[in-house]
Amino acid sequence: MKCRNSNNPLKKFLDGESSPADDRFVAAHLAECPACTMRHRDIFEIVSRLRRLPFVPPSAGFGDRVIKNALQANREQGRKKLTCFTIAASAIFLSLILLTSHS
Ligand SMILES: [Zn+2]
Repeated sequence: MKCRNSNNPLKKFLDGESSPADDRFVAAHLAECPACTMRHRDIFEIVSRLRRLPFVPPSAGFGDRVIKNALQANREQGRKKLTCFTIAASAIFLSLILLTSHS
C-alpha cells in the first residue's frame, strides 16, 4: 500500500464516513506505516479537541459579512492581477517602442 492511496480512506475514517472495507484498509496501512500512524494520531487528536469545543453561535449578520469580505478580497485580488498584467504589458510595449526606435 502506498501512503497517497491511504489518504482518502484515512480522511473518511477520521470523518466517521468510512466503510468496513475502508477501516480494514486504514488499519492495515497504519500497522505498517509509522509516518501515517503519527499523522493519523495528530489529526485524530486535533479533530477530537475541535469536537470538544463548545458551540458558539455566530453573531447576527456573520454570514453576510463573511460573504461581503470574501467578495471584496476576490475583487482586490483581481485588481492586483490586473495591475501586474498592466505593468507587464506596459513594459513589453515600452520595450518594443525602444527597440523599434533604435533600429
Ligand atoms: Zn503511510
